[in-house]
Amino acid sequence: MKTVVSGIRPTGKLHLGNYFGAVRSFLEMQENYNAYFFIADIHSLTTHPTPEDLHGNVKQVLAEYLAMGLDPEKCTLFIQSDVPQITELYTYMNMNAYLGELERSASFKEKVKTQRNNVNAGLLTYPVLMAVDILMHKADFVPVGKDQEQHLEMTRNYAKRFNNLYGVECFPEPQAYSQTGKLVKVPGLTDNGKMSKSGGENDAIFFDDPEKVTRKKIMKAVTDTGPEVPNQEKPSAIENLFDIMKLVSEPSAVEHFNDLYNNCTIRYGDFKKQIAEDVTSFIEPIRNRIEEIKSDNTYLAEVAKAGADKAKANAEATMKEVREIIGFRRFY
Ligand code: AMP
Repeated sequence: MKTVVSGIRPTGKLHLGNYFGAVRSFLEMQENYNAYFFIADIHSLTTHPTPEDLHGNVKQVLAEYLAMGLDPEKCTLFIQSDVPQITELYTYMNMNAYLGELERSASFKEKVKTQRNNVNAGLLTYPVLMAVDILMHKADFVPVGKDQEQHLEMTRNYAKRFNNLYGVECFPEPQAYSQTGKLVKVPGLTDNGKMSKSGGENDAIFFDDPEKVTRKKIMKAVTDTGPEVPNQEKPSAIENLFDIMKLVSEPSAVEHFNDLYNNCTIRYGDFKKQIAEDVTSFIEPIRNRIEEIKSDNTYLAEVAKAGADKAKANAEATMKEVREIIGFRRFY
């Protein structure tokens, strides 16, 4: 079975966009691959979170992914900082990473602009840590977005460089995982492109929003004055709402409102009420499950421990090989 590795940023609070754009592909992967999913808490130190925020966010995303169906029996779900072998390999790999290539990385250039007052060495070597996350488990595939392609290319370079330096075949070169299903881009509620956490408080539908808040956001979603000509093209704000509806509603409901739109009799209030109803029914069981899991520290501890044990065992096997290759051979 092929191995796939994917990181999860512990930024907390997942929204519908994350679910349909990322989580669903994880659910697919855990069925068909030897899948490692980790919460990248070491990576997040580059932005200096408070200890409380860091821990709270890790707990939140762990609970959210479990509530959405990641199954610790089917995949290895672990927290990056639970696996000390990662920081060990990171140290070694940094010796084979060059300043020029790190400075040229698009994400580094971007960070230099966005966090001007905190351009730390961790930001510079971020791609090395990412490569280590992947190489540690000798991944065949990594699901990456467009913005991450360069990092994957760097990962392949570090794999090749290590193999060439020591004349070994230790690390395979991972490839980008392309989903079998269609990649869905979920639009936001404010007609400003894709649904996003940074799109203002009314743009994203979060799984842990109370039901009232979800309904209110949807009822407030941007629309227009309504269609005037039969079968006219839909403006983006309306198309967005239809796109969201397609994800959560019965096809018959979508068809019904589409017909009303096309014959210019749609009432946006009813349309949004239906979307709110269906979004709520979709979210409710997951939201309840998030709460349930978050309050069950014993379960969270069991999951985290089992994931850490599995990830550490595999990481240690890789590290035994790596230490021997490098020449760290014990005298005792
Ligand atoms: P982020 O919230 O930016 O950390 O994204 C986490 C994951 O969710 C990434 O794989 C994104 O590509 C995906 N994602 C975020 N927002 C959306 C969206 N509106 N539609 C589809 N996928 C998304």
